[in-house]
Amino acid sequence: MLKEKENIGFKGGYNLLDTYPLRFCNIIERISSGGIPEVFEFRVPAQKIQHVIVNLCPTEPWALPNWVILEHKTAAFLNKLKEIKTRYFPEAKCYIAINKKEDEPLSAVKDYACNAEWMKVFAVDAKYPQDDPLILSKVVLGIETNFGQDTTTQGVLILDAQTVSAIYENCMLGNKVNSRFVALSGTGLKENEVIKVQLGTSLEKILRNRVKESGKYRVFVNGPLHGREITDLSQKMDWSINNIVVLEELDKKVMFPMFKSDELVLTTNMLGELRRCVYCNFCDDICPVDLEPALYYHSYKRGEKHKARLYNLEKCIECGL
Ligand code: SF4
Repeated sequence: MLKEKENIGFKGGYNLLDTYPLRFCNIIERISSGGIPEVFEFRVPAQKIQHVIVNLCPTEPWALPNWVILEHKTAAFLNKLKEIKTRYFPEAKCYIAINKKEDEPLSAVKDYACNAEWMKVFAVDAKYPQDDPLILSKVVLGIETNFGQDTTTQGVLILDAQTVSAIYENCMLGNKVNSRFVALSGTGLKENEVIKVQLGTSLEKILRNRVKESGKYRVFVNGPLHGREITDLSQKMDWSINNIVVLEELDKKVMFPMFKSDELVLTTNMLGELRRCVYCNFCDDICPVDLEPALYYHSYKRGEKHKARLYNLEKCIECGL
């Protein structure tokens, strides 16, 4: 069933896809772990699942794009989802949250939904962090969760496209899934690309011959905004890693940044990270959970740390904006 809503979303956030568009090479290289690869396992949540949200709305430019999994065969993807729902979550409703600017898959999802009472479509604005579990459950279902809380405790299971495909391959077809697609990007790499890599492969092996030879760099998994920095590249690839970003180490000040305010340049500039707050209040507008970071920051500087509770800082989802 088509239940597309207009203007759904949340206040704040930022459209990184428009500001910092990235292109990935469409030749996908396969990388083996060189040992016995780990395998993907799907564990059905212990709690009864009433809602399954499929996230087809990546909001970070460095995240794995939809085309890698959908391969222009969106109807086939939705057939797989239907089989998974029928076997594991027969009483649940499915919700497809999809980027409203991705014309081809959106149109395919809408056509499919016309004859599918079991699912609803939400064509959403792909502004960051629309795809955060807390924001997604609120936008799609109106359900409030706490930062870090497992949404399955509320009966909500959120799956990305690749996990849907892996569940189908493994649980419905009985095939072993021991590799996944990962997007590689960043100023520290020779090119942006998508790879298919066996689980258990070290990050060092993945990045070998891909990093630019000159200079220092920093490595992040799942994005520089809310992912984590990796300093030990012997760390192994697991299913949770959607993307790897390598940024050149730039610790020089940019001259006259005010004249480049329309350019978003991702760097690791520590000076930038310690910018002085001029109380412009942009953070109040951009915060996706309605916090007032500047107000709290100035209270903190005045030694009024007890005000954290008054300003609901526990609601912060650490989006990194
Ligand atoms: S206060 Fe937290 S949730 Fe709000 S913009 Fe800053 S990091 Fe994001």
